Amino acid sequence: MRPWILAETNYAHTKDHRYEVAVLPLGATEPHNLHLPYATDTLEASVLGERICGEADRRGANVVLLPAIPYGTETNLSRFPLAMNVRPTTLLRVIGDLVESLAGSGIRKVVLLNSHGGNDLKPVLRELHGKTAAHLFLCNWYQAVRADARAMGLFEHEDDHAGEMETSFALAYFPELVGRSADGRLLADAGATARFRFSALNDGWVSITRPWHLLTTNAGSGNPHAATAEKGKRLMDLLAPRLAEFLCELSAAEIDDRFPFE
Ligand SMILES: [Zn+2]
Repeated sequence: MRPWILAETNYAHTKDHRYEVAVLPLGATEPHNLHLPYATDTLEASVLGERICGEADRRGANVVLLPAIPYGTETNLSRFPLAMNVRPTTLLRVIGDLVESLAGSGIRKVVLLNSHGGNDLKPVLRELHGKTAAHLFLCNWYQAVRADARAMGLFEHEDDHAGEMETSFALAYFPELVGRSADGRLLADAGATARFRFSALNDGWVSITRPWHLLTTNAGSGNPHAATAEKGKRLMDLLAPRLAEFLCELSAAEIDDRFPFE
């Protein structure tokens, strides 16, 4: 039993133990190009959550990893089969209810470990602010090390969804679920995306929620073919110490009037 994983622990442990920090992983159930499993985001969040909470626990932090929410917002993938949508307002309510359960158990530091780009969670923080005793922290892990990965040239191609980064992660941590064709190549297309007819949208200063059946060919954005398990492990080596360190700092911090400021 790993007492820092809620799904594995028991009441005999939680009865007399109060955790300082809870980590809630958020995933999705959606297509990822042709080759990655529908649970990719959920698996990523869970694997990463286990790794960072384990590392933080070994270093003396008092953390608990919650089971991942396996569904996310998929309104813009609705034309793909079995993209299992939870609307933003519903997700807000689910997270709000879970945060209330945590606060009721005396846990006032909550990290949302998000793995799904379609989950827009900042409004959740704004909505719950002042309504709960818990302090919410949002980490979209795929953004946490993007600049460093770019600086060290870790990936050949920029990744948005089911591209080189996610496929490398999958090859490192759940390779048995990565689809391959008969000749052993990745069962994926090149992940090309359509350009908008407006430069304002291409330049990014006007945005929309992109309909993925028009944006992509097979729900993939980013070329996955240069992915390797080695790159996935290097990504984890970049991510895990950084996130674990944050959990340690958070666990040790006292909640006073100025928290989380100095
Ligand atoms: Zn994904």
